[in-house]
Amino acid sequence: MSQFETVIIGGGPAGLGLAYPLQAAGQKVAVVEENKWGGTCPNRGCDPKKVLLGPVEILRRNQDLLGKGIVNQVQINWADLMAFKNTFTDPVSTNSRAGLVAAGITVFDGHASFKDNHTLDIDGETITADRFVIATGQRPRQLAITGGELLGTSTTFMQLPQLPAEIAFLGAGFEAFEFAAIASAAGAKVHIIQHNDRPLKQFPQAGVAELMHQLIAQGVEFHLNFETQTIQPTETGIMISGSDAGKLQQLTVNAGFATSGRIPNCDTLNLTAIGVATDSHGIKVNDHLQTNTANIYAMGDVVSRRQPKLTPVASFEAQYLSRELLHSGAAIAYPMIPSVIYGMPRLAQVGVSLTEAKANDAYVVKPLDMTQWFTYRHLNEAVAKATTIVDKTTDRIMGAFVISNEADELINYLTQIIDQQLTMKQVQQEILLYPTVASDLGYLG
Ligand SMILES: Cc1cc2nc3c(=O)[nH]c(=O)nc-3n(C[C@H](O)[C@H](O)[C@H](O)COP(=O)(O)OP(=O)(O)OC[C@H]3O[C@@H](n4cnc5c(N)ncnc54)[C@H](O)[C@@H]3O)c2cc1C
Repeated sequence: MSQFETVIIGGGPAGLGLAYPLQAAGQKVAVVEENKWGGTCPNRGCDPKKVLLGPVEILRRNQDLLGKGIVNQVQINWADLMAFKNTFTDPVSTNSRAGLVAAGITVFDGHASFKDNHTLDIDGETITADRFVIATGQRPRQLAITGGELLGTSTTFMQLPQLPAEIAFLGAGFEAFEFAAIASAAGAKVHIIQHNDRPLKQFPQAGVAELMHQLIAQGVEFHLNFETQTIQPTETGIMISGSDAGKLQQLTVNAGFATSGRIPNCDTLNLTAIGVATDSHGIKVNDHLQTNTANIYAMGDVVSRRQPKLTPVASFEAQYLSRELLHSGAAIAYPMIPSVIYGMPRLAQVGVSLTEAKANDAYVVKPLDMTQWFTYRHLNEAVAKATTIVDKTTDRIMGAFVISNEADELINYLTQIIDQQLTMKQVQQEILLYPTVASDLGYLG
């Protein structure tokens, strides 16, 4: 007989989100974690990043209103900001582990890998279970080039005791854009290097171009079509050499960070021994989050799927799996999933994409420049633009992307409107507090 009914590998948002309901339902549950309990989001992802962004928001708002009632420009003290951030991150692992223990869930500290599909090795200790759920997330991708080891990662960026004077981010994904917004507001000269001319490829190009324009105005320098070849140490940092349209280019900075994506943590679990199928995006699952080995499930960032790899998605899957494992039911059905690039401004999107809309006669695309709308002008924001995609027949908003300092809020409202299938007429009938981002909703369709 197995020691446990369910063993969850990975103590992040997905793993913890599943452990508690299974335990509450009377199952004998264990969780294995090899690093910090709580996982990526609260230790080295969303939460510390949002703490670092707090003063950035104030600094940019202050800058927008200089000479319009504000006299002095505020400055960010990096060491103080780091100390404040640490008050959030320092207790996470201990508290997350203690919470599990208090609930009666067995915890194991160590690296898990499979011996067979009912047996797990945890740093030499063997445990058995009827069923395993893999929730091991992703880790930063290191650049496989000469000197790649001289680069930091998203984790080390958010732990920098001092802010280097000049920084390069290699790879123009969400991490590079968000960290550039933070570092440049805190006083660093920032470079973003990208091997092609298509940063943030999951977002509409028009929105990305606008975001880049705003970051350039904040002093960020983009190096597109720059193929990095080597990184060498210098007395003050590193020299990045690469080719730009065939010409050798060199960039000397005090620190560089690999921001070229994340790789799923499935390569060290010995999955081949138990026949679990994977691809370069992670573990393959069916629409019940079950792998091709019947008693092994996977959820969260480690899963190969088209949905964005975000904390609310990991939590949604944990909730789904808790119902599925206890009662066995319908296939997972994801609601609308919005996504955002944080910064000042932010770029956010949800629903039907611009590309899909342009290829389909059923939709009308409505670009709106909101910069002069009261909501944005009273704060003298540099840019506020929205593009909505409306179904011609039903008069329902089906998708949108927004760039403004409040884009995340507006996209959250639009996500609910799309999910609840409200028509523009129904939205216009709501009485909402004025003047707010929400009170503009009726003008967006
Ligand atoms: C810089 C950054 C910023 C982000 N910002 C946002 C944001 O603003 N909003 C948002 O929604 N999402 C954000 N994310 C993504 C979010 O952090 C993840 O979607 C979320 O943490 C996924 O949860 P998870 O439980 O699937 O994986 P994780 O949180 O990664 O947890 C997996 C856990 O498994 C452990 N593990 C791995 N392998 C093993 C093993 N073999 N044995 C034992 N333990 C193992 C790991 O140590 C880890 O603790 C960000 C991520 C990063 C890196």
